[in-house]
Amino acid sequence: MISVFGSANMDLVAYVGQAPARGETVTGHRFRTIPGGKGANQAIAAARAGAQVAFLGAVGDDGFGAELRTALTEAGVDVRGLRQMPGSTGIAHIVVDDDGGNSIIVVPGANGTVTGPSGEDMAAIARSDALLLQLELPMEGVVAAAQAAQVSRVPVYLTPAPARPLPPELLGAVTTIVPNEHEAAAITGVSGPENALEALLQQVQEAVITLGSDGALYGARSGERLRVPAAPVKAVDTTAAGDTFVGALAVARAEGRGMEEALRFASTAAALSVQREGASTSMPTRHEIENALN
Ligand code: ADP
Repeated sequence: MISVFGSANMDLVAYVGQAPARGETVTGHRFRTIPGGKGANQAIAAARAGAQVAFLGAVGDDGFGAELRTALTEAGVDVRGLRQMPGSTGIAHIVVDDDGGNSIIVVPGANGTVTGPSGEDMAAIARSDALLLQLELPMEGVVAAAQAAQVSRVPVYLTPAPARPLPPELLGAVTTIVPNEHEAAAITGVSGPENALEALLQQVQEAVITLGSDGALYGARSGERLRVPAAPVKAVDTTAAGDTFVGALAVARAEGRGMEEALRFASTAAALSVQREGASTSMPTRHEIENALN
């Protein structure tokens, strides 16, 4: 079983010719609500990749919260640890213009109330084969969840996004950090993925830096280094490619696969996801991943 302690957001996406200036009103051409948040995305990715998954987090008492609960449940995720708090669900208000540029407002809402794992969350984490964390919840909550996993010797995967300074007590409890190239540079202050990897390994046991269409780079303190290519595919929408990657990686590792094989599994899952639109809607099933691997 894999636990995800993280954010759930409703993405509210308006498509418009040109984003409005201050004080201006413009008419857009399309609007979509899409379940998202890095936590919910990773939970759905791991469930589709074939694991039992428990999602630990919070939504508000509005319609978006109910929709997110349904989306997670339909993906097969256990939502008994998804609390309902008074007030609004987390949202990302996204404006996409005809040039593909975007501007985003994130309102954390209920995610901001998740300042630590509850007693039941701790019990779920202790029973897990892996804990997945991101940085869209209050930092104190993320640190407390990581430490709960560490006490029970449960491997902790951290996606350090949105990138921000990482307290040493968090890094001390993380097993595998999985930034993209930009996050790796922001965290370490070092440019170039190879150099950033070495800098990360000063702080954590294991790191995977994802490099978009260039694949991923892995390193461990033991000295092991691996590079996996990305499948040459036509990318339609790379939203949540990283979340698909880490969800699948954790599933493969929890099944006891070696790191090289697990990285290939993750990279195959992520390559499938970029060929389809959307976040959770683009994530491949176990069957699709296995087929693409063969
Ligand atoms: P993020 O989505 O967090 O920014 P990346 O862009 O590095 O992360 O993508 C994560 C992973 O998704 C990559 O390591 C790769 O396996 C896969 N991926 C991303 N973009 C492509 C692409 N254009 N073609 C094939 N695979 C891709």
